Amino acid sequence: MCGIVGYVGKNQAPSILIDGLGKLEYRGYDSAGIAVFDGNEINIAKTKGRLSNLIKLLLENPLSGTIGIGHTRWATHGAPSDLNAHPHFNKDHSIVVVHNGIIENYLKLKKKLMSKGYEFLSETDTEVIAHMLDYYYNGDPLATITKVMHRMEGSYALGILFRDHPDEVYAVRKDSPLIVGTSKSGNLIASDVPAVLKYTRDVYFLENEEIVKLTRDGLHFYNIDEEELEKEATHIDWDMN
Ligand code: GLU
Repeated sequence: MCGIVGYVGKNQAPSILIDGLGKLEYRGYDSAGIAVFDGNEINIAKTKGRLSNLIKLLLENPLSGTIGIGHTRWATHGAPSDLNAHPHFNKDHSIVVVHNGIIENYLKLKKKLMSKGYEFLSETDTEVIAHMLDYYYNGDPLATITKVMHRMEGSYALGILFRDHPDEVYAVRKDSPLIVGTSKSGNLIASDVPAVLKYTRDVYFLENEEIVKLTRDGLHFYNIDEEELEKEATHIDWDMN
């Protein structure tokens, strides 16, 4: 289990995502990646190894967009490699996922998806989530996410983008940490508070099986029954050493 970040706002996402992942480095990781939506396509950069490898990759092939998700991986299913690094796409690259945790019933889910013709590019349990979201997708991200949650066993913090919802980041957690930060210039998700402190001190702590939809100017929280929740922000008054 390592780190997740996500951003939607007025500014360019890649540098915010990389900065956030850097703040989560203390958690340890073996690969890193980001997905950024340029308004047309979702583009990915990911690589085995240090964050500096990813930064080098982005210098050679910059990504642009004001919405994105990022990940540092601590491999549990499949060796550390470029292919196993997150984010993971569905087949037509319209849905992209980052995941911390372990999907315990992934083999059963993978077999079902393979019987429906889904092809897997990685050895990760996470890729199952991308294809399941694809399999159940009906144009409604929240309904699709809750459907997939009902089928997954294990632990997960997820960041998700849907190409046909170009201004929204979705995130959910169960037995893996995830927090939400809100600021005037945009909204963020992260595995831990230090990743957002540069941008905001107003943070929401997601409880198990809560889902959040982030837009440029708003946050919406839901439970697994798709009911909207009222949550209180916590003001962080400590600093990082
Ligand atoms: N189980 C996933 C994988 O092996 C996620 C690992 C993590 O939490 O970084 O890719």
